[in-house]
Amino acid sequence: MPTTPLANRPHDHSHCVHSALAEADALCVRQGLRLTALRRRVLELVWQSHKPLGAYDILAVLSEQDGRRAAPPTVYRALDFLLENSLVHRIASLNAFIGCSHPEHAHQGQFLICRECHVALELEQASISDAIVASAKNVGFSVETQTVEVVGLCASCRSA
Ligand SMILES: [Zn+2]
Ligand SMILES: [Zn+2]
Ligand SMILES: [Zn+2]
Repeated sequence: MPTTPLANRPHDHSHCVHSALAEADALCVRQGLRLTALRRRVLELVWQSHKPLGAYDILAVLSEQDGRRAAPPTVYRALDFLLENSLVHRIASLNAFIGCSHPEHAHQGQFLICRECHVALELEQASISDAIVASAKNVGFSVETQTVEVVGLCASCRSA
């Protein structure tokens, strides 16, 4: 039996959010980066679930819940900062962002995206990125970034 990932199980998600923010704080201190209040809040919003969140959703929550009218460019810049520092990944097929659960080391994003509930599970298989780099090299292509997005049905939607 495959193990059901946390994202597919009922769990106390506040733990996920708390540890993601704590890791982000630690990472920024180590690397001398400034995790401003807005950057931290945007990261918290991206982490509000295990489903990728679009920039417009983030903007909407910021103005509804925080009553702060954040200008879209400010939010985009905050997202860029989070992307550059591997705290979030961008899911191109959904035009949305998802929190990274292991930002402490460089890696390429590989995601299993459920077409039903939109939960995105991050895989971390160096062999996949290595295979892509090797295949690209065979055709003289130098890989800079790669995000692998795999669409299907997650464990909880399959059993529903
Ligand atoms: Zn969670
Ligand atoms: Zn990641
Ligand atoms: Zn699902």
